Amino acid sequence: MTAHLIDGKAIAEQVRSEAAAEVAKMIAAGMPRPGLATVLVGDNPASHMYVKNKRKSCEDLGIVSFGHELPATTPQEELDTLVAKLNADPKVNGILVQLPLPAGLDEERTLSLISIEKDVDGFHPINIGRLAMKRRDPLFVPCTPAGCIVLLERSGCKIEGKRAVVLGRSNIVGMPAALLLVRANATVTICHSKTENIADVVRQADILIAAIGRANYVKGSWVKPGAYVIDVGQNSIDDPTKKSGHRMVGDVDFEAAMEVAGAITPVPGGVGPMTIAMLMRNVVRAAQLSHGM
Ligand code: NAP
Repeated sequence: MTAHLIDGKAIAEQVRSEAAAEVAKMIAAGMPRPGLATVLVGDNPASHMYVKNKRKSCEDLGIVSFGHELPATTPQEELDTLVAKLNADPKVNGILVQLPLPAGLDEERTLSLISIEKDVDGFHPINIGRLAMKRRDPLFVPCTPAGCIVLLERSGCKIEGKRAVVLGRSNIVGMPAALLLVRANATVTICHSKTENIADVVRQADILIAAIGRANYVKGSWVKPGAYVIDVGQNSIDDPTKKSGHRMVGDVDFEAAMEVAGAITPVPGGVGPMTIAMLMRNVVRAAQLSHGM
């Protein structure tokens, strides 16, 4: 059996087009363009690249982006003041503070200061808390795990009643992914670095979301025949055949899992493109909420 390849690029493009269509409708109705403020502190090259890509995506979709760059030595009070200013700015519908923040700045404090109506990354404790509670709805859900669910849904996976296993319990991927699967009525097991007999747990999964950051960790023999496999991992490994000397692989041994799974995301080209697409969707939603839509 060869698994169906879940095309994250194509599905992300659908989500982006849907967001662009919503923006066009808002403009046609006389509303201002949605606005995203990005806050980038310090000079981490990866963070600079992520923010650049997010702002480019805004531009492509007709969303205005307001870039704020601060030096790594910025005191917490100055960051707090900026977040308060953005909370009060009606042109700003979403606020994205790029993580990680440099040492000395308090991530938890900063994320808690963002107004929940502008929390387009979905990391505010109230939004996460609502995600974990029955009959409560978060205004926004973290983008990467939300993207995993969209990939499952749009590749024909019926989540309800299925046994799902999530590898990883981080605040940004594993835990919210597990909470989303519970909300979609799956029966969910979360594995982490202390889990015993992880291969046996994975073998039970009709749906597997792997988010641990360990190259090719999940073996083909662990995958249940016919399972949906969503590989969030992004790991760089040496590859002398490449000009760069390395290449990106996921947390799942793709070639082997491909022979067993029913459907699988590649790395790159699976979950990766979904994150920014889901952010764009959240920004548009934030703008619509601000207009009572
Ligand atoms: P993280 O914060 O480092 O968390 C890793 C999680 O995996 C932890 O819960 C850890 O367990 C668990 N873990 C580590 N080694 C394990 C092992 N051998 N067996 C079982 N569990 C293990 O990582 P993250 O931020 O969630 O990211 C995970 C991966 O997703 C990374 O490769 C990252 O690059 C990728 N990622 C991709 C996107 C995207 O595609 N857009 C976005 C975000 C992250 P403990 O809790 O016990 O320590």
